[in-house]
Amino acid sequence: MAGEKEIKEIYENGMKILEELTSNAHEIQEQMLEEILIRNAGTEYLSRFFVHGQNHKQNFKTNVPIVTYEDIKPYIDRIANGETSSILFADPITQFIQSTGTSEGKPKLIPMTTESFEKRMVKPLLVDLVMKKCISGLDQGKSFYLFFVKPEMETPSGLMASLYTTSYFKTQIFKNGLAKFCTSPIDTILCLDNKQSMYCQLLTGLLLRDEVVRIGSSFASVLARSIKFLEDYWKELCSNIRTGYLSDWIADPACRNATSSILTRPEPELADLIQQICEDKSWEGIIKELWPEVKCISSIVTGSMSQYIPLLEFYGGGIPLVSPNCGSSEACFGINLKPLSKPFDVSYTILPNMAYFEFLPVNNDGGGMSREFELRGASATESSESTNETTTVNKPVDLANVKNGRYYEVVVTTLAGLYRYRVGDILKVTGFYNKSPEFQFVERQNVVLSIDLDKTTEVDLSKAITKAKLVLEPFGIMLTTYSSYADTSLTPGRYVLFWELKMKGSNDLPKLDAKIMEECCGIVEESFDFTYKSLRKGGVISALELRVVKHGTFDELMDFYVSKGASISQYKPPCCLKSEEAVKLLNLGMVGTFFSPKTMF
Ligand code: AMP
Repeated sequence: MAGEKEIKEIYENGMKILEELTSNAHEIQEQMLEEILIRNAGTEYLSRFFVHGQNHKQNFKTNVPIVTYEDIKPYIDRIANGETSSILFADPITQFIQSTGTSEGKPKLIPMTTESFEKRMVKPLLVDLVMKKCISGLDQGKSFYLFFVKPEMETPSGLMASLYTTSYFKTQIFKNGLAKFCTSPIDTILCLDNKQSMYCQLLTGLLLRDEVVRIGSSFASVLARSIKFLEDYWKELCSNIRTGYLSDWIADPACRNATSSILTRPEPELADLIQQICEDKSWEGIIKELWPEVKCISSIVTGSMSQYIPLLEFYGGGIPLVSPNCGSSEACFGINLKPLSKPFDVSYTILPNMAYFEFLPVNNDGGGMSREFELRGASATESSESTNETTTVNKPVDLANVKNGRYYEVVVTTLAGLYRYRVGDILKVTGFYNKSPEFQFVERQNVVLSIDLDKTTEVDLSKAITKAKLVLEPFGIMLTTYSSYADTSLTPGRYVLFWELKMKGSNDLPKLDAKIMEECCGIVEESFDFTYKSLRKGGVISALELRVVKHGTFDELMDFYVSKGASISQYKPPCCLKSEEAVKLLNLGMVGTFFSPKTMF
């Protein structure tokens, strides 16, 4: 298996490989494009764009359109329904990866070949190597990672569709490699019941607390959720540790066996200690107290996950937060080569061997594709008969030509049948590591709230809320999570925000001063753009509403989405709700509602 050889090589020479990759980034990108085109120019999808005898690489950028998922969905659906995968890619597509995009979006099916799957397995090893190099002591213990899987789905063609992580956790490479250094036994990770899985992973993490040097999850939302679960279950966990007997409701046989192999005897002293720590009213620094050897918390905290930074810093009590990598089901973009940089300063370095990257310039503030781009892009449609692919006239640049300080939407051509595919994420170039661009994750390029002509993006919303929540800080009030929706049930419609608030030192509900909460509403509205303000002034949009919900309400929202098929490990709290059920659920946790001052506009 090519992957195994490559992985052995990474273990032995990983840092040297990284230096080589980044130093030769331009050449690697060119070779990669050439190879993809030589192999796939004859596929049904690509062949339409090349005249016989043309130099494919030279004509790639002029002939092949930039597309979104919707444009290539007909091809993917044909493959999922049993047609040969060679319509899209020369090598056989062996499985699909289910992408969440955002949890509110429908899952996409991303094609995957054996080669591309194996290539991707290199990324976690590189991440691990870099972290161990930069944080001393990480190689002297175990990692308490909270990992989860989601059931696979079979397409009519018999190809399986699963989350990338689910497939990865099932490989021998993971089982015989990184999993050996995790506190969670593999069968607790692979348990399909998320609640049993979470319980057992927390239990083994506590039993092995002295060995734990790193705690983490893929996304920060999962770690925040796990701490909430610990809040709810620590008494039962302590009781299991005290008696040496695993709760009967852990019924999944493999999960039960695996956990019992670590919970082998009563440990009353350990139970007392954990109880004493958890009984403290304030959970500030709880991670450090429960896992005293932890050197870092590893979890993605950029983009929409940055809302969890204050919470994780609070629970971490000074332990560095490391945001290790950035990518999507479509392709891995980059890894963080400076793991100890502050969460808000995190940059990732592009790994040039993961895909062929192009970069579509966007507005300077990263707040969205320029209007000009959208209009020109839409009007410059080059339709083929079977699809409505669009070609933009706004020119993307390749990796060698990105400029420091500029914002781009990332476009990938992959080793598994995506050609010039807009992932939907915005990156800001912040420098270069050797020849490879370093970037900050800015946000997904999507409008989340819209009434009339107003289009408010995730970035606009996040910036506005970041400003507004500062008002609460002097009162010791923390905003733990937020979401929103456009309420158009009345005319004029309004934007509604949901905020989950708690006191810094405890989970108690803060006393809500109407004046202060109204001030927050005002700051949010004040931060929105000109279009919003003029529509608000003209009475087309009415005053923004802020609904405060009690601690734990957003966990219920996560449970709701997981019950609907979202994956717990890739869960990203939707920053805007489209589902009425979700809005109803948050409304149930509401403890106060506030409006922007009438006099504002
Ligand atoms: P999925 O394909 O379901 O794994 O979702 C991938 C999406 O998660 C990406 O397109 C990004 O929007 C988001 N994402 C992945 N990595 C990061 C990161 N480091 N920071 C912020 N968002 C991220």
